Amino acid sequence: MSEVNKPLNFIEKIIEEDLRTGRVKEVRTRFPPEPNGYLHIGHAKSIVLNFGLAKKYGGKCNLRFDDTNPTKEDMEFVDSIKEDVRWLGFQWDGDIKYSSDYFDQLYEWAIYLIKQGKAYVCDLSQEETREYRGTLTKPGKPSPYRNRSIEENLELFEKMRRGEFEEGACSLRAIIDMAHPNMQMRDPVLYRIKKASHHQTGDKWCIYPSYDFAHGQGDAIECISHSICTLEFEEHRPLYDWFIENLPVPCTPHQYEFSRLNVNYTITSKRKLKQLVDEKVVDGWDDPRMPTISGMRRRGFTPKSIRKFCELAGVTRTDGVVDVSTLEFTIREDLNENAPRAMCVLHPLKVVLTNYPEDKTETMIAPGHPNRDDLGERKLPFGRDIFIDQDDFRESANKKYKRLVLGKRVRLRNAYIIEADEAIKDEDGNIVEVHARIIEDTVGKNPADGIKAKGVIHWVSAKENVDCEVRLYDRLFTEPEPGAGGKGFMESLNPNSLTVLTSCKGEIGLATADKETHFQFEREGYFYQDCKHSSPDHLVFNRTIGLRDTWK
Ligand code: ATP
Ligand code: MG
Repeated sequence: MSEVNKPLNFIEKIIEEDLRTGRVKEVRTRFPPEPNGYLHIGHAKSIVLNFGLAKKYGGKCNLRFDDTNPTKEDMEFVDSIKEDVRWLGFQWDGDIKYSSDYFDQLYEWAIYLIKQGKAYVCDLSQEETREYRGTLTKPGKPSPYRNRSIEENLELFEKMRRGEFEEGACSLRAIIDMAHPNMQMRDPVLYRIKKASHHQTGDKWCIYPSYDFAHGQGDAIECISHSICTLEFEEHRPLYDWFIENLPVPCTPHQYEFSRLNVNYTITSKRKLKQLVDEKVVDGWDDPRMPTISGMRRRGFTPKSIRKFCELAGVTRTDGVVDVSTLEFTIREDLNENAPRAMCVLHPLKVVLTNYPEDKTETMIAPGHPNRDDLGERKLPFGRDIFIDQDDFRESANKKYKRLVLGKRVRLRNAYIIEADEAIKDEDGNIVEVHARIIEDTVGKNPADGIKAKGVIHWVSAKENVDCEVRLYDRLFTEPEPGAGGKGFMESLNPNSLTVLTSCKGEIGLATADKETHFQFEREGYFYQDCKHSSPDHLVFNRTIGLRDTWK
C-alpha cells in the first residue's frame, strides 16, 4: 500500500484531530529510553513511531534518557542508544535530553506540592508501604505520617536531600487517595533515597524522583504534545494527569498508549537479554543472534528493513505477537533488490576438470546483480581445479537432485557445463575429490550435442579464491514463546543457533570489497562481514538470512 492511501493508525487520527481543532499547534514527540541496556526490536517500533509521527506532521522528536535510577544505568548504554537511533535513520531535535536535566526543577515542584499540602514525608518501610497500599479489591489505609505539618515535611524533605537519612528510611509521597480504585493513585512515591552516584549528575543528589514523578513533568518541560508509551502505562495515566493538573507546568502534554511489539521465537525484554549477556550465552549485546538493534546491525540487517518491519507490525491497542518470518521477509526483500551477488563455497570439495589444460586460465564475467546494471560486473578466474560445495555432488541420485552426479551434467554458474566421471575417496570412503570434464563451448550456451544440464551450481577457482570464515545463525529460541508454560526462557534456547564454518572459499572480489557491503552468496543466502571479527587477513561473514524460509 502506498504511503498516500494507507489508513491512519489510531494515534495519527488523534493527532490530525488535535491539529484540526487547534489543541496542538506543533507535533512534538519523544523517545524516552532508560539507559539500562541496549535497544531491541521492540524499541525500534517505538522509535519508528515517535520519530515517524514527528516527520509526517512536520514536528519534532526529542531523545530523552529516562535516567532516574542511577544504580542500573550506565554511559555505555547511553552511547549505544544514540548510535542505534541514528543508525535507524533518525535525528532527534536539538541536544539530547535527560530526565536528570530536570532534577532541580522536579525538586522545586516536590517542595511546591508539600507547600500545597499535597505531599508528605513518609517513614513507613517499603514493606509497610506495600501493606498499607491495599490490593485491587481492598482499599488502602492512610499512612500514620500523612498528617505531618507542611513545616515538618519541608524540614524532613530537606534532610532527605542532605543525606541525613539512610536509604529506605523514608520517602516523599503525594497525598491523593488511599481508597482510589486505581492503585497508582494511592499516595504514590515521588522521591526515594538512593546513595548512588549518577552518570550525569555525579554525587549531587542522594534522592531520586520516581518514574511517575519525572516522566510527565519532563514531557511538560519539553512541551511534548503527544507522549506515546506502551500499554502497561495506561494505569499510570490518571497519575500523569494529576501531576500536570497540580503543578505549575509550562505545557499540558497527554499520554497515549499502544501495544508492545512482541515477536515470536524472540524475547523483547532488556532484563532477559541482559541475562543472556551476563551468563555469556551470547557474545555480548551485539551478538548477531540477539534481537537488539546492534546485534541485528552486526548480523547484516539494514535500517530500511527494520523500519519496514515496524510499519508492517502496525500501531494498535491490542496485544499480539508478530511472526518473526515477517522480519525475515523484510530483510530478504531489501537485500534481494540491493545486495550484489557473489559466489562462496561453504563446504569445499575439489573438482579437477581433467580435459582442461593445467596451465590455462580464463576470466568469466558475471553480473554484479541480475537486474541492477549499476552494480557492475565481476571477473571470475577459471582454471582446471575448482571448488564446489560438498552438498552439490553425489555419486548417484534421483531426478529431483539437480546438481552434479557421476555421468551427469551440471552448469557451473557463469561458466561451463561439466560432466562428472569419477569420485576419488580416502581410505575411510569419504569423497575427497571429483574428476570431471568441461563440455567445450558451453559458456553462456547450450551444448552442441543437445544434452542440457539439469541444474546450476556455484563454484570458485581453487587457485584464485579467498579463504573466509562463515557463521550461520539459527533462531536463538526453539519455541514460539520462549519461557511459556512455566519454564524459564533459558530452557527454550536453541543449542544449534550458531554454526561456524572455518574453511570456506569465496570469489576473489570479496577480498577487496567494502566491509559494509551486503552480499548475496548465490544459492546460500545474504551475508555481511562481522564488524568485530572480520579483517582483511581473516574475512568473517555472518549469514544475515537464508534465501528462503526453510525453518521447521
Ligand atoms: P524492557 O521491557 O525491554 O526493559 P522498557 O519499556 O523498560 O523495555 P524503556 O527504555 O523504558 O524500556 O523503553 C523506551 C521506550 O520504548 C518506552 O516508551 C517503551 O514503551 C518503548 N518500548 C519498550 N519495549 C517496547 C516494545 N516491545 N514495543 C514497543 N515499544 C516498546
Ligand atoms: Mg521502561
